[in-house]
Amino acid sequence: MSINKKNDYQWIKIDPGKCVHCGICVNYCPRDVLAKDDNGVPYMKHRDDCWYCDVCSFVCPKNALVLKEVPYLIK
Ligand code: SF4
Ligand code: SF4
Repeated sequence: MSINKKNDYQWIKIDPGKCVHCGICVNYCPRDVLAKDDNGVPYMKHRDDCWYCDVCSFVCPKNALVLKEVPYLIK
């Protein structure tokens, strides 16, 4: 079973009421972690490559994306 299916646990949280499916977060992620699902909503396609850099939430023009948690090592 793949560990990167969109229904698996992810630490980014998207507010579907705010996301306008612009793809900016997908394009700016330095690790190519994110992709759009069939509805155009970003999800962590390559979750294990995430650096927790927070770029995705920083660039979102709608404040629709947040990191739910950050590993204790870099808090
Ligand atoms: S925290 Fe950084 S590496 Fe992880 S998904 Fe967001 S932009 Fe990509
Ligand atoms: S940048 Fe924000 S509004 Fe655009 S696709 Fe990503 S979460 Fe949605």
